[in-house]
Amino acid sequence: MELQSILAEIVGKEFVSDRPEEQYLYSRDPGAQPPRKVDYVVMPETEWEVQDIVKLANEYKIPITPMGGGFTTSALAVPVKGGILMDMKRMDKILEVNERGRYAVVEAGVSQGALKGYLEKHYPRLQHCMPEAPPTVTVVGNSLILGHGHLTTRYGINSEFINGMEVVLPDGEICKVGSCSLSPYWFTRGPLPDLSGLFIGWLGTTGIITKMSIRLFPKPNYRDAIAFITDNLDLVPEAVYEIDRIDLVENLFLWGQEKPDWMDHVYLVMVVSGQSEEELEFKKNTYCKLLQQYKEIALVEEIHPALRKRILDVPPFAATAADFKKGGGFEYTGAILPIDKIPEAWRRGKDIARKYSMLYSYAVQVLSDQSVMFAFDYSFNRADIRDIQRTKKAIEKSDRLTLDLGGMVWRPELSAQRSMIKKMNPSTYKLMKNIKKLLDPNDIINQGNWEA
Ligand SMILES: Cc1cc2nc3c(=O)[nH]c(=O)nc-3n(C[C@H](O)[C@H](O)[C@H](O)COP(=O)(O)OP(=O)(O)OC[C@H]3O[C@@H](n4cnc5c(N)ncnc54)[C@H](O)[C@@H]3O)c2cc1C
Repeated sequence: MELQSILAEIVGKEFVSDRPEEQYLYSRDPGAQPPRKVDYVVMPETEWEVQDIVKLANEYKIPITPMGGGFTTSALAVPVKGGILMDMKRMDKILEVNERGRYAVVEAGVSQGALKGYLEKHYPRLQHCMPEAPPTVTVVGNSLILGHGHLTTRYGINSEFINGMEVVLPDGEICKVGSCSLSPYWFTRGPLPDLSGLFIGWLGTTGIITKMSIRLFPKPNYRDAIAFITDNLDLVPEAVYEIDRIDLVENLFLWGQEKPDWMDHVYLVMVVSGQSEEELEFKKNTYCKLLQQYKEIALVEEIHPALRKRILDVPPFAATAADFKKGGGFEYTGAILPIDKIPEAWRRGKDIARKYSMLYSYAVQVLSDQSVMFAFDYSFNRADIRDIQRTKKAIEKSDRLTLDLGGMVWRPELSAQRSMIKKMNPSTYKLMKNIKKLLDPNDIINQGNWEA
């Protein structure tokens, strides 16, 4: 029987397609990477359907690329070598919220926006760590790529909040990792060997996650933002260390871009939160006093109300206000860097933007481990081939800069993956290859990623 008909038997014929319209849509993402071929799009509804598709793919030796929201902008959910694109969005159930244990178990297609809405309605005292990305992106996709959100400076990155997973392995076996492998409670990863590391950071190459448990956090009664401005880049690392040392922020990020002119500075933006107005005032005053020691760092006395709202929104501003050019393309590359490298990345990033006739634009998220995710943002016109090529080159140059600075490229597109492999200790890469081979001997899942 033809593959399409067998897929239709598994998921129902309305949930499989090889029509050019779907192939076109799934062959690209919002970034500047060129489109790539998709043969079939399937949308399973259960882990057993995922299992049947994976078994079929092994039989036919056809690759499968799992996709959540498909919004990395580095084309990680666009197949490298064609085959089946598995869109997880029909697996959209929030299976459990354990209010006192503070965790949620979700299926792979649950979006950030859906979980946020559900918690607001049913558990208003709880929240999850929500990325600045469009709300359609998935909780699972974001956690697997070590994404970050509005609580990251305080608590950590989203992969750290994974308590357990259900995975369809590349041979079709359904496996659980974490406490859920032996208990009804999906409440922790330990004290077992931490098998979640076989799936986090692998860019979907080692298995298809069908369920995940993530930690939830208490929701404070009050939140507010304070911002500081400086033109002395060299002061920034010291100020960030000091802010972090006091440990009272919910989120801390830096922000600067060439246009409009008032943005062409370094802004240090802090979100503070608390259970009472007194607590909030105490935190804000503590930071104001702390930063007074730096003559060249000034408090922004009045944050415009519209801007304050955007900073405090969850997800915050960038998801709704990314500065798209006419034609609407956007890609950013994230450098995971030590805090000390911020000034050099900022200066040399500007040179890159200038070289490719672009305007610089940065968002720098302070992570909880004395590092940052430094985003080099580029918007471009999709209808202008030269603009797309310029963007691609600027991305590649920014990635080279990241590696030069001793950093790593976060959720890397293909060429950055190869550059990282080249720089990596050969035994580390050999171990990665051995693990992949052991789990996926037929090289079925997200073929082409993490390949030299
Ligand atoms: C304007 C803008 C702002 C952004 N801001 C942020 C931000 O603040 N923080 C942040 O972290 N990100 C941000 N992003 C990047 C990105 O949108 C998010 O990281 C997003 O959460 C990725 O999730 P996704 O569902 O789109 O993943 P996808 O792109 O669908 O998938 C990501 C990777 O995981 C794999 N994968 C997906 N689902 C599964 C599964 N079920 N099993 C196995 N593998 C799977 C895919 O194959 C792919 O390799 C932003 C993007 C934009 C456009």
